[in-house]
Amino acid sequence: MKLFDVIIIGGGLSGSSTAVHLSNKGYSVLVIEKSNHKSIIPCAGGMAAKMRTFLPIDIKKAIETEVKRVHFTYESKDKVIAELTGKSPFVIVKREVLDNLLIEKAISQGTFFINSVKVKSLEKNNDSWTIKCNNENSYESKFLVIADGSESKWSTFLKLGPKRPRYAQTAAIRLNGLGNLSKNSVRFDFGSIKYGFSWAFPLKQSTNIGIGTFIGNYKIDNKELSKNVINYFGFNIDDYEIIYKRLRIWNGFYNLHIDRALVIGDAASLCDPFLAEGIRPSLLSSFYAAESINQCLLNNDQDLSNYSKIMQLKWSKSMAWGKRIAEVFYRFPQTGYRLGVKRKTAPKRIAQILSGEMSYSDIAQRVIKRLLFQ
Ligand SMILES: Cc1cc2nc3c(=O)[nH]c(=O)nc-3n(C[C@H](O)[C@H](O)[C@H](O)COP(=O)(O)OP(=O)(O)OC[C@H]3O[C@@H](n4cnc5c(N)ncnc54)[C@H](O)[C@@H]3O)c2cc1C
Repeated sequence: MKLFDVIIIGGGLSGSSTAVHLSNKGYSVLVIEKSNHKSIIPCAGGMAAKMRTFLPIDIKKAIETEVKRVHFTYESKDKVIAELTGKSPFVIVKREVLDNLLIEKAISQGTFFINSVKVKSLEKNNDSWTIKCNNENSYESKFLVIADGSESKWSTFLKLGPKRPRYAQTAAIRLNGLGNLSKNSVRFDFGSIKYGFSWAFPLKQSTNIGIGTFIGNYKIDNKELSKNVINYFGFNIDDYEIIYKRLRIWNGFYNLHIDRALVIGDAASLCDPFLAEGIRPSLLSSFYAAESINQCLLNNDQDLSNYSKIMQLKWSKSMAWGKRIAEVFYRFPQTGYRLGVKRKTAPKRIAQILSGEMSYSDIAQRVIKRLLFQ
């Protein structure tokens, strides 16, 4: 049996970008993906432009919109506009195209990719993993990466990430045309959706519309979706496909590694619990996971603790504040909107958050200082 350097379970954004990094360094990689096609991926595609630097490939083909303006409303009224000046710090990608570009690149660098295959069992040997699949084959590797998304089975099995994952409930729709959206503008509406918000992000010829609710198990109501969301964004249509998805959101500081295995992306519960931003932590975790595995392979080591440490520093510290902000904002959205979005300096801060220049912890520290010196 061939011994791979790394096996990755899940060929979504996190799995395929990790495969690009590792195969780029010359390692032998196998990606196991359970589905056999990617039609519409339920993701609005909003991405901080600077995240491109975390990928060793040009993703221009996947970028559909350079965002110049962000419109916020509260219950469809009380508009606030944030102008994003200079080179667009925020872009909209078509996720099917992005994921495809990444996996194709990984394959061109020698990655083995098998799809329509489900993992049946994982077994740790002394210094390798044996992975049995439902195609009756077994595969072996020195390192294992869990990238099976929000419904991850294998992170739970290996006790990686939160003991009890927390979920946002989401619904996503893609409609032809731009409705009443301006070409380079994204829209957020707070207050109309309990414990969350609705959004509309324009692609070139279509729009990603969605809802996310972030507290409890609030059930998304179809009528609410058509009345408060689809019509509001300027679409008059009754026939559309809705994709419902539970999204694992950040829920505390946990180790994301054990010896010779680690978890990345949604499977690691990294998604922002306030705005559902998951592309940035997926690309960050893929990058640092590949770096950590590279160091271990170079030094004949199996300790991946550097990966957990760096993700705490680069991401989780900020998300701890994101979680606190979400809990207050979504319980008291009107006050949250008045104090957080309608402030004079808010548009600039919002642009900085979307571009990844500023974190929730920076914002929280400013607010605390303001309160102390008032
Ligand atoms: C409605 C919605 C809108 C969003 N909008 C944004 C946005 O605008 N900006 C943003 O930053 N983030 C957004 N996100 C979050 C973002 O989409 C995710 O964080 C991102 O897709 C995570 O990538 P991933 O590779 O970790 O998981 P996924 O993309 O879910 O990939 C997991 C892969 O693993 C495969 N898999 C699952 N189980 C197995 C198994 N047992 N064996 C083999 N393969 C398996 C799946 O088929 C899938 O291909 C949104 C999410 C939702 C739901």
